[in-house]
Amino acid sequence: MNLRLALSCVLYLLAAPVYALLGVRKLGKMLRARRVLAAGTIRCPHCAAVNDLDILGTCSNPKCRTTEYGSRLRCSVCGETVKSFDCDACGVTIKVL
Ligand SMILES: [Zn+2]
Ligand SMILES: [Zn+2]
Repeated sequence: MNLRLALSCVLYLLAAPVYALLGVRKLGKMLRARRVLAAGTIRCPHCAAVNDLDILGTCSNPKCRTTEYGSRLRCSVCGETVKSFDCDACGVTIKVL
């Protein structure tokens, strides 16, 4: 048997669980994001205030700056998405995605 082939087989076997783990983590993140968006609210980890996601917000894209009702995480005009926002009650930055 070709040694190089055997070696790449071993490497693949060693790498497979890592790739599987990364895939599961990515999937978990996606599911979490979907659940958060479906719930429509996020509880602040600092002060426990409930922050509505569906509010009047201004797009963070300087070229767009659209103010609209809708998800504060995504602008429907330019498609800009944000991964975090400040808590309405205490101002701490809440990471969403
Ligand atoms: Zn926008
Ligand atoms: Zn807070």
